[in-house]
Parts: sequence; C-alpha cells; structure tokens
Amino acid sequence: MADRKWVYLFEEGDKDQKDLLGGKGANLAEMTNLGLPVPPGFIITTEACNVYSATGKLPPGLMKQVEAALRGVEEKTGKKFGDPANPLLVSVRSGAKFSMPGMMDTVLNLGLNNVTIRGLVAGTGNERFAYDAYRRLVMMFSDIVLSSDYPGLKKDNFEHIFDELKRRVGAKQDTEVGAADLKDLVGRFKTYFKRQTGYDFPEEPQQQLRLAIEAVLKSWNNPRAITYRTVEKIPHDLGTAVNVQTMVFGNMGEDSGTGVAFTRDAATGEAELYGEYLMNAQGEDVVAGVRTPMPIAHLQKQNPKIYKQFEAIARRLEKHYRDMQDIEFTIERGKLFILQCRNGKRTPAAAIKIAVDQANEKLITWQEAVLRVQPSQLENAMHPRLKDQSKAKVIAKGLNAGPGAAAGMAVFDADTAARLGKGGRGEQVVLVSAETTPDDIHGMLASQGVLTSRGGRTSHAALVARQFGIPTVCGVGDVSIDAAKRQFSVGDLTVKEGDWVTIDGTTGIVCRGHLAIEKSTVTPEFAVLMEWADRARRLMVWANADTPEQAAEAVRNGAQGIGLCRTEHMFLGERVPIVQRMILAKDDKARQKALDQLLPLQRTDFVGIFKAMEGRPVVVRLIDPPLHEFLPNHAEVMREVYALRIMDPGSKKLAKAEQLLHAIEQMHEANPMLGLRGCRLSIVFPQIVVMQVSAIIGAACDLVKAGNKVDPKIMIPLVGHVHELTALRGQLDQVAKDTMKAAGVKVNYKFGTMIEIPRACLVADDIAREAEFFSFGTNDLTQMTFGISRDDAGGFLPTYIEKGIYKQDPTVSIDEEGVGKLMRMCVTDAREANAKIELGICGEHGGDPDSVKFCHRIGLDYVSCSPKRIPVARLAAAQAALTGGGFRDK
Ligand code: PEP
Ligand code: MG
Repeated sequence: MADRKWVYLFEEGDKDQKDLLGGKGANLAEMTNLGLPVPPGFIITTEACNVYSATGKLPPGLMKQVEAALRGVEEKTGKKFGDPANPLLVSVRSGAKFSMPGMMDTVLNLGLNNVTIRGLVAGTGNERFAYDAYRRLVMMFSDIVLSSDYPGLKKDNFEHIFDELKRRVGAKQDTEVGAADLKDLVGRFKTYFKRQTGYDFPEEPQQQLRLAIEAVLKSWNNPRAITYRTVEKIPHDLGTAVNVQTMVFGNMGEDSGTGVAFTRDAATGEAELYGEYLMNAQGEDVVAGVRTPMPIAHLQKQNPKIYKQFEAIARRLEKHYRDMQDIEFTIERGKLFILQCRNGKRTPAAAIKIAVDQANEKLITWQEAVLRVQPSQLENAMHPRLKDQSKAKVIAKGLNAGPGAAAGMAVFDADTAARLGKGGRGEQVVLVSAETTPDDIHGMLASQGVLTSRGGRTSHAALVARQFGIPTVCGVGDVSIDAAKRQFSVGDLTVKEGDWVTIDGTTGIVCRGHLAIEKSTVTPEFAVLMEWADRARRLMVWANADTPEQAAEAVRNGAQGIGLCRTEHMFLGERVPIVQRMILAKDDKARQKALDQLLPLQRTDFVGIFKAMEGRPVVVRLIDPPLHEFLPNHAEVMREVYALRIMDPGSKKLAKAEQLLHAIEQMHEANPMLGLRGCRLSIVFPQIVVMQVSAIIGAACDLVKAGNKVDPKIMIPLVGHVHELTALRGQLDQVAKDTMKAAGVKVNYKFGTMIEIPRACLVADDIAREAEFFSFGTNDLTQMTFGISRDDAGGFLPTYIEKGIYKQDPTVSIDEEGVGKLMRMCVTDAREANAKIELGICGEHGGDPDSVKFCHRIGLDYVSCSPKRIPVARLAAAQAALTGGGFRDK
C-alpha cells in the first residue's frame, strides 16, 4: 500500500477523474491544464480517505508523497513552506465526487507561525492583513481540527474573545481592528488555546498540515455530511479527496476581493453572469453570508479589466464543460485567480431553461437537454406563487434567493422547524434565522420557506434552498431577529414565533400573515423540453383519472389515455344513500331497483370522461373495494344505537339503526384487504358489475352514435385465478352485446385485468390467454408480495429505511428485486402466451421516475399516473429511452 499513488499534482489530473480526485480536485486539475490562473496545489485521493475511514490512520507513505508534492508547489510559487523569509501558505479543503456545499471542513492559512508571520508581514508590507490571516488560522484550526477533542475550542469561543476586543477598542466591524490589536488577539487566542488543551498551539507547519489533512478526511463522516448524503442519495463509501492549494488572498486591500459567479442566472436560467463578490474579503465571508456582497455586474464598473478577463474565462469554461459553471475567484492585488469551477446548482426552472437554451445554441444536443433535467426538478418547476401580488403588504425586502412563494408560522431555529414542520408535526413553518449554516439543513427541509437577515444569493441558505426548491429570501437587512425572545422586528412591527408570515423567494418580499398561494404555470422552455421528451420516449404515459375534470387536466398535461378510472369514486357524495340501499337490500329486486337508479348516473359519468378523452383509450376498472367501505363507521352506528336505546326505545329510528348495525357486523371481515373485494365481489354479487358494464358500453354507444370516437377498456381487479376472469368475462361480454344491440351500434371494447396478486404473476400465461390487456396494480402487488399493509406500513417503514433493512420505501419506488422480479416474469410469460397483449401499470409507482425507468426496461407499453405527475413520467420515460436498455421490438 505504501507505494500506491495517493497524491496528484494539479498538472497530473483531469476532469474525468472525479472518482479518484473528487469534483473540485478534478476540475482544478483540468483548469490548470487549460492554462487558467489557478494557484498551484495538489490532491490527496478519495482512496486515501477510504483507507482513513476504515483504519482511522493516514495510509502509509501518504505524508512522504505530500512532502514531495509540496516541493513541486514551492518550485512553482517560488515560496517555501515554513520559510521565515518568504513563506508558502496553503489551504486544505475537502472535495468529494459530488459537491456537498458546506458539509465538510476547510482550513486556511496553514504554514503561519511565530516565525513565518514575519515573512508574511515583510512580503506584503501589510501587518494588519498578516495578523488577520494568523488569527483566522488559529481560530479555524482550533475549531475544525481539535474542537471534537476539546469542545472549548469551538469557533464561538474565539468569536467571543474577538468581540470583547472589538468592544474594548470601540470597533464595530472586524475591519476596524488595527494591526497591533490583531497581534494582541493572536496572543490571546493562543493563551486561550493553551488553557483549553494544556499545550501550545502547533507551530510546526508540517504538523499543522498533517493534522488539517486528517481533520478534513475525518469530516467525511461528520453527522451533517451523513445527513446530506442520505437526503441526496450519495453513496456513503465514496470518500472525499483533499485539496491542498497555495493561498491567495482577497483581503489584501481594496485592490483585492473574492466572489462566486455562475455563467448563467442560477435562479431564472437567463444567459448572463450571475453572482456576487466582496472587495477586501476572504471567500468564507461570501459563502457564510457574514457580509452582504455586491452583484457581479458591479465589478464591471469597479474593475472593468478584471471583469472582462473573468467573463472570458467564464465563457470558456462553460464551453469546455458544456454546462453552466459555478466559479469561485479571488483577486489578489489586482490579479485574478480561479479557485474552483463545477457544474452550477440551479433552480428547477433554470435547469429547464438552461438545458433548452444550450440545445438551441448547439452547445449540447436536444437529447442531452432531456437528460439534463431531473424529473424531480421538473416536479418543482411549477413553483408556487402569490395568488394576488397586489394584496401583499410588504414589510421588508431581501434577496430573491430561492424562488417560489411560501407561507407558514415563523420559527426561529432549525430544531423547532424540524419538530413542527414537514416530517414532524406537519405544520406549515417558515424558518427565520440571522443566517443558516449546514447544521440547519434538517430544519430547512422541514420548512415551507426560509428567511435570513444576512447573507447573499450564494450563501449556504441560498444554495440549499435552490437545490431543494425551498422558497427563500436572504439578506433582509431590515429584519432584526431576537432569537432568544423568539421574535423579529421590522421597525415598530414585531412578529413572534407562531405568527404567520408569507415570503416570495422569486421577488424577495416578506409579508405578514398568511397570503394565498397558487401553483405556477409552465414556461415556453418547459413545453419545448416536453416535446423533446416525447420525441425520445417509447413508453406511453396515461393517467389515473376518475372525473371529466381530471381527464381534461390529464390531457392538458400530455396524457395519451386513462389507465385507471376507479369507478367506486363515483359511488360517493350524494350517491351514497342509493349505494347503501343497494348494499342493504333484502332481496335481488330491491337491489336491482337501487342499481337501476345508479345506472343513468354512471352512464353520464362515462360519457363525460370519454368525451374529455376524445377517442383516447380509457381503462375503466369495475368496482374494487369491499362494500362495507360505503357504509357508516361501525363504532358510530353502535353509539347511535346505544343512545337511542336509552333515549328513544321502541322507535322506528332505533329499529333502522339496529338493522344497519347488524348489516355492518355481518359484513365485518378480519382482513378486508384480503376479503370480499375486487372480482370476488363481482362473482358473488354480479348485479353491480352488470350495471357498470351496461353503463360503460351504453355511454360509448351514445357517443359513437353522435359521431364521437371512443376506446373503452373494461378492467377486472384483483384476479388471481384465470377462472375468475373467464367466469366474469362470459357474463359481461353478454351484457355488452345486449347493450350494443339495444342501442343499435357496435363499439370496439377490450377486456383485461389488473395484475395485483402475486399468484396472477405466477400464472400470467393462463390469464393472458383470456385477456387483451394487463395493468399492474403495484399498490396491492407490493402489499401482497411483501405482506405489508399499505394502510399501516407507514408506522414502521421509516424505521426500516433508517436501519437500511429496505434501501428505499417499496410503496414509493418499485422493489425491483422482489415485486419487479414478479413483474418481469409476468411480462415474459404473458407475451409468450399472447403476443398482442397490452401491458401497463396503474399503481402509484407509475409516476415515480425510477419506477417509470424500470417499466421501460421490462418493456411495458404504458405507465399511468396522477394527472399532475404526467410531465415527470414523460421525462423519466424519455430518459429511460435515451440511456438505452430494455427496448422492445415492436
Ligand atoms: C393498485 O393496487 O395498484 C391499484 C392501482 O389499485 P388500488 O390502488 O385502487 O387498489
Ligand atoms: Mg389495487
């Protein structure tokens, strides 16, 4: 292991080595080789991190390679690490394969000590700057490297010492503290350090470097990084690389500065530089949101030469990487340095616009554009917004950092947000905080929106907000937060914890109270992307819709059919009394009378849906749930009976209630989901489905007569044995025939079944010979394959996921190994037995991107999902087709 290569100079790597060098390192290497002004440095590999995680020790030979690489950097810079005359200072930063902003650690200014500080003072002629760098090192090193062993070394304690000093010298800002006081501060920091640890602050540069490298490697497994990876589905075994790089300083005076800029607007996607910078500041000041920075456009006025150079580099990088870039830069005494570039995080709306624009600019192909937008981003793209902007009484204005409007009760810390918000008590909350740090991520995810009084568009709050689509307003200077009192004030107005606020992260406004919010509409780019997705995909996308309104919405969203119309929903509302009469009927005659009343109503339902679908296929599922679901709740009726026995004994009302109670008790099943439901119900009480089929075919006949096109498909639920299907089919085909005969027209209809019982998958060939289509009911199929109740599993599934027993919730994404195996087998056997059979899915999984991709791979013909998820399914289906695999020869 000792002779393994653990360390790469920037010159030795390239952008395709992200696994080994991390994203940041690979890009620093690439930019170095492009000849861009990158401060020299080297990268310790992710493999070294994995060794460290496994053994708790640096790999053998690593520090030797670090020393050799350091010599290389010294040659390039002409400075020497630990040299009293001309000291090289370095930063040590994490950099995993996937960017995890702010989740891991960084230490700056390594190499400073009591001796080298003199060299830095002499070399820069700026004593104030040098001691400022030194006090930052002591503070950061103590906090990052040693505070887990010595909690007294946490950053806050040093901030207190600094605040005390500022008070004493009458300084409001850090920048007002002079060189002599900073020098004194370094001394105080070191004394404090010794008091906490019992030893001196490490003076030896090599030791500083080694400890900082270890700390960064260790930070891969800190709790916030683990949470972030879990949420972002980043594997935990990738490890982080460590970048050791020559320090350049943005805080050397007014001709120095630092900033972050995106090559396109990360909020809207507009093709213009988007970002911020601060003169005379270090990068951490911008990212942490401690000072509110200037928009990048301002640099054009302040320093046109640097702006032009930066703009040219930005353009070059975007072209080179063929994607929008997020670039960190520093200006040191009038010289521009590029410290990082990576594909920029963007809002869902920007993701769509950038992908479509870049394809139109021929920077990427239309297929790549389709692959650039995550289905989940698309889901977020329809951002919510204020229903009536003119009604908004704006109390403050800040930066529009994370688009979308949000309303909620103000809460003042992340833990409270997590306890009350999404995933907690389920209340709507808005997290209000001076600034957010990576430790607050759980609270941000639980909030409807985030409001911060400090920080800019590239602050942590803004980055996280955009990534997760959380509406956020940042840097609202007028808001003064009193976290201890749990309130904020704007002028005379005070908002207390629990009071409602509404924010609009698209415009940056803050309002008091709960304003109405509506979903956004689609942009032209959205429509273009959908068009391209449709061009690419093979799977059809249908909708689960039970009403003409839902059907119309589905068509507007691009549905090519209805894959599931649940007819039991048509038995609710004002029709319940008729349905109950039908269920409680004493004899067939009385039952038929109730059904005769339902028939015309059902027929009208189907006419509406068929019309809305304009000839597209409509799969109507015959009644599925157990009949007791249409009766009143047992406990309620029992209470009524007991009350009447006391209050009104011998009354007609009591007799009726007792009769109802008796019926409910007779229908009681210990396990209704496995009881008299689906096709079993239709075999035992055929009158209901006879009525339904005559309503479906009757409606179709009416429309055909009127010159409309219809494509009805009758679907039987819960089939597990082919005889269930053959028995029902014989009877129902006859009903259809009779109905058409009576109407004097013929309609083409198909007859098929749901596949939602594992046995049906096992005998799919038998069933396929009797059916024209199958539709996987993966809700029930998952329930029955796992043996978990779909209604109650919520109680233990989170524990299962947390403990890693299930990788993911099988009710959200198809369990490919188990349920998926049954589906695959079913598809193969069904097609072998009946080459013409049409196969689809109508369980909730039909709108889940991963499941859609799976359905593509196993060769289904369509997925069916809720109308709102159709665009997501269209995109997922296109991505499945474009990334290959599972094409079925048609
Ligand atoms: C299913 O089981 O997947 C299905 C679509 O039917 P339901 O959810 O109505 O049981
Ligand atoms: Mg079902």
